[in-house]
Amino acid sequence: MSENKGLFTSDKAQAYLAEEPEMEVEKLSDRLWSISDGVYRTIFLEAENSVLAFDTFGTPGRARAYGRTIAETIPGKAISTVIYSHDHLDHAGFAEDLAPNADIIADEMCAKVIKLRQAEGQRQPTNVISGKENQITVDGIDLVLLNPGPTHGTGHLSAWFKEEKLLFSSDTILSNARYGLMPDYHIWNFVKFMRGFLDLEWDTFVPGRYEVTTRAQFEKGCDYIEAIQEETQKAFVEFVPIWVMDAMHGYVGNSLKERFGDLDGFDEHIGLTSIRIVHHYLMGGWSLEDTPTPGILLADEVEL
Ligand SMILES: [Zn+2]
Repeated sequence: MSENKGLFTSDKAQAYLAEEPEMEVEKLSDRLWSISDGVYRTIFLEAENSVLAFDTFGTPGRARAYGRTIAETIPGKAISTVIYSHDHLDHAGFAEDLAPNADIIADEMCAKVIKLRQAEGQRQPTNVISGKENQITVDGIDLVLLNPGPTHGTGHLSAWFKEEKLLFSSDTILSNARYGLMPDYHIWNFVKFMRGFLDLEWDTFVPGRYEVTTRAQFEKGCDYIEAIQEETQKAFVEFVPIWVMDAMHGYVGNSLKERFGDLDGFDEHIGLTSIRIVHHYLMGGWSLEDTPTPGILLADEVEL
């Protein structure tokens, strides 16, 4: 069988695309669950007559495993709605395999990128929203979907659940230091918009990968990225060769290990994360990502 292949062109990717891992489910309230394939994480909710699922996981096999686990957890209710947290294929690439007939809610910018991308398996959104805050009711569930501006990916939506005192924000802050390469993080605004979520009342934070965590750990995650931003700027003054992994690992790692060395993955990832962030200051960001209005390029060019 040939799987939906996203943007892969090699047939060798088929085995990766087909794998269906065991999923771990964590019940966070009467109506809300978190689910992980061991690395990636998302949430789903039991609505009146159906299930609302955030994202799809990143392969057809994982999307099927996600769907099957939802069916086991909430028997008798089908997925009526998928909400895309952002455009990336590793989170939202395979609605075709998860729920081929469900409504898809996404931000306008996310929808435009998906339309142009035409990745196999990534369904086009059917219900497009825009603006910083959308309060919508879907099958009896009140959703608060937030896009304060460019943070990660394109048209990123975080979800706030007042009743659960819970924030879900995929691929933004993590419970650890495993950020790695950080492609498509919009450094200029990232921490500012993340800290803005602290104006809302919530105690539990669900990230797009790794463990469910706390508000305090979320704040530490903001402090961590901000501290790397600070230290990478100092690296210029100290004439650290900023493109050399060992040099950045040593300089930024030594400066931050006392404050953040306890974060899981710190030693393995601080060098790479620093190299990514230092290039923000070296180059001025990538294309439109670090301007206040990155959507301007697609504004009048793509019709949905
Ligand atoms: Zn992403």
